[in-house]
Amino acid sequence: MAQDTDEVFDVVILGGGSGGYACAFRAAELGLRVALVEKDKLGGTCLHRGCIPTKALLHAAEVADSAREGEKFGVRTTLEGIDMSGVNKYKDGIVGRLYKGLQGLASAHQVTVVEGEGRLTAADTVTVGEREVKGRNVVLASGSYARSLPGLEIGGRILTSDQALTLDFVPASVVVLGGGVIGVEFASVWRSFGAEVTIVEALPRLVAAEDESASKALERAFRKRKIAFKTGVKFTGATQDENAVHISLENGETLDADLLLVAVGRGPSSAGLGYEEVGVSVGRGFVPTDERLRTNVANVFAVGDLVPGLQLAHRGFAHGIFVAEEIAGLNPAPVVDSGIPRVTYCDPEIASVGLTEAQARQTYGDDKVQVYEYNLGGNGKSQILGTTGFVKTIRVTDGPVVGFVAVGARMGEQVGEASLIVNWEAYPEEVAQLLHAHPTQNESLGEAHMALAGKPLHVHA
Ligand SMILES: Cc1cc2nc3c(=O)[nH]c(=O)nc-3n(C[C@H](O)[C@H](O)[C@H](O)COP(=O)(O)OP(=O)(O)OC[C@H]3O[C@@H](n4cnc5c(N)ncnc54)[C@H](O)[C@@H]3O)c2cc1C
Repeated sequence: MAQDTDEVFDVVILGGGSGGYACAFRAAELGLRVALVEKDKLGGTCLHRGCIPTKALLHAAEVADSAREGEKFGVRTTLEGIDMSGVNKYKDGIVGRLYKGLQGLASAHQVTVVEGEGRLTAADTVTVGEREVKGRNVVLASGSYARSLPGLEIGGRILTSDQALTLDFVPASVVVLGGGVIGVEFASVWRSFGAEVTIVEALPRLVAAEDESASKALERAFRKRKIAFKTGVKFTGATQDENAVHISLENGETLDADLLLVAVGRGPSSAGLGYEEVGVSVGRGFVPTDERLRTNVANVFAVGDLVPGLQLAHRGFAHGIFVAEEIAGLNPAPVVDSGIPRVTYCDPEIASVGLTEAQARQTYGDDKVQVYEYNLGGNGKSQILGTTGFVKTIRVTDGPVVGFVAVGARMGEQVGEASLIVNWEAYPEEVAQLLHAHPTQNESLGEAHMALAGKPLHVHA
């Protein structure tokens, strides 16, 4: 890692999360000399405090549910309890192995990792302590942090996802503030671990960014799982003492719980990093870019959660790869948010890509849109797993599929094909020609598109 400190890199990247390290690796593959500045751990939110640890918890939750429900399948099991130290060991083991792998990749790519807190001090310079790391191009990839609400201080019984991931006990009761992707994920985990969970959401429905039918199905499933939720209700404040946290709502109601999880979204990490001083436009902390991910300052790019739009790790990866290729002069195709697959991870899962039904009707007109909703009740593998839900596919009349949403256990795994269908602008008639292996949940995609193409198979006319 010893480098000449006067070296000018081709690319200096500020932040080693999904966006930053993907950019570093792709740039290095393209023969560019890369410095990657990271103040914490390579891998960022996704690996250490986001995607990976939460999915490990969800898998442990699924195992707990299977043990609890063994009888349903004729298997004698009982759930004796959750050993959080064992769960954390399993989770941390996965994160640790992936982290090691990532460090190995950084060194194999000969990326110069500069450890420490960086600050943009000129359009071509990131300063880390005494060291000025200079580059012909600079990529801002400082990511995001868990936001709170004004007057709601994090500490004690009031947590964000960061602290929730390190709990060494299962709370008896939790209030989750926010019914978005992160809120429903933790609600699902804690319920499977045996906690009493109540979600409070100001918007009229859970996961309000998704197709309304998906919210309804999730709410139905959560009711069945005895996850309580209050939608269309505003939170007004919380106090805590040694026994509980007391949450008050605008409708006058109060809720008491062991813990309050604040899951009200993620804000951009840009404060104090010198962006504005160097002339980079910043809007509510985010760094807006053009479609080629260029900021308003020449040769300064931004990627990932810092750029307004969907906050997803695979968007960060795609941004990072795009910028590396742009700098290398490969003229890559822009990353368009509307084509990015989305998964809400909880039980049941929601998978979606493209437009919701309401967006499609608004975009193309009510009479120019056709929708088919296939019920997973007709899908053998879903029956075997004991899950309910649906696959909904949305096409322009006589045109391509423009939207997809599915709800059901494990349906997140189906988003890959849906993403190809929407992004390749496939017609249902084309998808209907492709075979889907039997018996898989994947067949439900085939069935939905066959039906939309006018040749339904396992469907009542
Ligand atoms: C609980 C949770 C679950 C999630 N689950 C999913 C999921 O299942 N799927 C999905 O796609 N997305 C998920 N996400 C979102 C995903 O984690 C983010 O979209 C992704 O990490 C964004 O990548 P990024 O590179 O933009 O930022 P980050 O991952 O936040 O990385 C930014 C990096 O910059 C570093 N940094 C910041 N400032 C400085 C500085 N001044 N100097 C040096 N380094 C600095 C930080 O330490 C960090 O490592 C989840 C997020 C959370 C919180």
